[in-house]
Amino acid sequence: MTDTAALRHALVRAGRVLAIEEQGDYVAGHISLRIPDGDGRFLMKPAGIGLEEMTDDQIIIVDAEGQRIEGSLPRHNEVYIHSEVLRARPDINAVVHTHPLHTVVFSSLGVPLLPLSADATIFGDIGIFDETTDLIISSERGAAVARRLGDDNALILLNHGIVTAGVTVEEAVYYALKLEQACKIQLYAAWAGGAKRYGGAADARNRGLRNKRADLFKNVFDYAHRCACRNMGIVICEPIAPQAMQGCYDRNA
Ligand SMILES: [Zn+2]
Repeated sequence: MTDTAALRHALVRAGRVLAIEEQGDYVAGHISLRIPDGDGRFLMKPAGIGLEEMTDDQIIIVDAEGQRIEGSLPRHNEVYIHSEVLRARPDINAVVHTHPLHTVVFSSLGVPLLPLSADATIFGDIGIFDETTDLIISSERGAAVARRLGDDNALILLNHGIVTAGVTVEEAVYYALKLEQACKIQLYAAWAGGAKRYGGAADARNRGLRNKRADLFKNVFDYAHRCACRNMGIVICEPIAPQAMQGCYDRNA
């Protein structure tokens, strides 16, 4: 039986980070983390509370079919985003789904994400799931989202939000933060009359790879968590231990 204490706390920290970074939508938005050797079971934020309100002992355990098997708080009805992405992607362990404001607005424009910032270059030609703008409340819809995500780390849901996936919680959260920032910057450009100048495809790809690094995932996450703790009045007892720069990686290389 896997000891889930550390995994639970990783989810709690992620909830604080997502909230301080304005990914919260009242009590909507959720994050999950696969239980190693757990037959598809995963930990998940419960429904009915805000991302930053989650505590270690409130986190629920859900099976591979999306049914709550442990915990007393309710399960989000969009659980199938998590169960189906985790099923389709054994290479990743963490899934984030939120409704970030700028990304939702951006999704309505019907234009590609342009490499106007380092943030955008991480995602390349990001997909937009448009089979429905409704909530993903069936395993079939969850599987459709997983298919549209494919081998990528991030997907926009039309008029709805985002799905990001990572090997670690830190990685999945990093993509959520960076995608929202990229959409925000492109909206600013649109409001200013439209982007006129930006780098080419090869330039953007190289820049994107440099911004997909495990050390960045962790350092950005840890910093944002310290910010969240300061904001919430939580005493920070974890040492500041930044990771040294590690190599860039390309999942498709
Ligand atoms: Zn949603």
